[in-house]
Amino acid sequence: MPAKAAQSVHGTGDLSRYGLGSLSPMSDLSHRVESLAVSATMAVTMKAKEMLAAGHPVIGYGAGEPDFPTPAPIVAAAREALADPRNHRYTPASGLPELREAVVEKTARDSQLAIDSSQVVITNGGKHAVYSTCQVLIDPGDEVLLPSPYWVTYPEAVRLAGGIPVVVPSDMGSGYRVTVDELEAARTPKTKMLIFVSPSNPSGAVYPRDAVRGIGAWAAQHGIWVMTDEIYEHLVYGGAVASSMPVVAPEIADRCVIVNGVAKTYAMTGWRVGWLIAPAAAAAGAGRLQSHMTSNNVNNVAQVAAAAALRGSLDEVFAMREAFDRRRRMMHEMLNVVPGIECPEPQGAFYAFPRVEGLLGRPLGSGRASTTLELSALLLDEIKIAVVPGEAFGAPGYLRLSYALSDADLEEGLSRLQRLAG
Ligand code: PMP
Repeated sequence: MPAKAAQSVHGTGDLSRYGLGSLSPMSDLSHRVESLAVSATMAVTMKAKEMLAAGHPVIGYGAGEPDFPTPAPIVAAAREALADPRNHRYTPASGLPELREAVVEKTARDSQLAIDSSQVVITNGGKHAVYSTCQVLIDPGDEVLLPSPYWVTYPEAVRLAGGIPVVVPSDMGSGYRVTVDELEAARTPKTKMLIFVSPSNPSGAVYPRDAVRGIGAWAAQHGIWVMTDEIYEHLVYGGAVASSMPVVAPEIADRCVIVNGVAKTYAMTGWRVGWLIAPAAAAAGAGRLQSHMTSNNVNNVAQVAAAAALRGSLDEVFAMREAFDRRRRMMHEMLNVVPGIECPEPQGAFYAFPRVEGLLGRPLGSGRASTTLELSALLLDEIKIAVVPGEAFGAPGYLRLSYALSDADLEEGLSRLQRLAG
């Protein structure tokens, strides 16, 4: 399939029903912001929370958010940090030295990658690290290869830097993974960067080591930067292994930015701590950018908590992973018995990404949907389950369902789906 320029979710319908306002342009706004799509995943999540608060029995499969509380020792470290007046002051723009050092140690422990703390920049979550990376590396007109289905934020972050996202499609048949040949077919003299994520949001795909190595070697050969998003590194199942690109393809290290954060691993989505690891000049550039955007960016208390998380044991992480694994298997099984749904087994992160074309065009309850965008609205109306339509990820015909919710809710919502479509 040929590469194509990424469409924002604008073209796919109005998300105002999800409560985040109309998408109609206002002429006083900048072109940058006018052309910005609402994050469909945030929109679905917020709408589900709102309906739940209003007393509707909504079950949300929208959120990319663990349902566990942050482990107690991390919360205790934050409590202690709050009482320390040193944390009531401005601190360095690139992050607290002790957290940057903790990232160095964690990266050696988990990826066997040796880095220097000058390469680490602490950011307001992984999302801010994605934004900063694009701002630091992309000039107007630069092309960025973006395998689809892609996480909603990537094309917008590229566009905000003036770049052009070029989609390299994959589908269920290829395990939602692109090959070097497909990337090569999309490469032009303007190709500046590839965005790579494994384990993947939204597909749950994990690239085998050799594939990561091949893609890294190809990028290095052509002088293409890679932003590799490792935020789901610990959430792999059934023998899948997450490989860090600069480890398995060291030749890309001087053109590689790693994005990571504590949100998914330690159930810390609300603390807003992430980081990027980049060659020193790019990291310094991100630091300069942040010095004007956010000063010491993330609040010190959250940074101290994140350092405690990274220095602590991974035992609680593995316990959460076990729960996710159990839910993953339940979701995979329950989806596949629904006529019209085909769901490959996700290998990582906490998302299933079924193909649901077989549900389109047929009566479902009192309605009928002709697109997956309509289908997700129908499912919310008819059976009060919130899912994210594939359109948001450049993959119409698919849905994303997160399995980061309680076993009981997961089962109840999918039973409703089975009754509706069975
Ligand atoms: N990368 C990917 C692939 C994600 O799914 C997310 C969260 N949905 C992030 C980065 C950012 O996470 P946060 O900003 O919460 O750290």
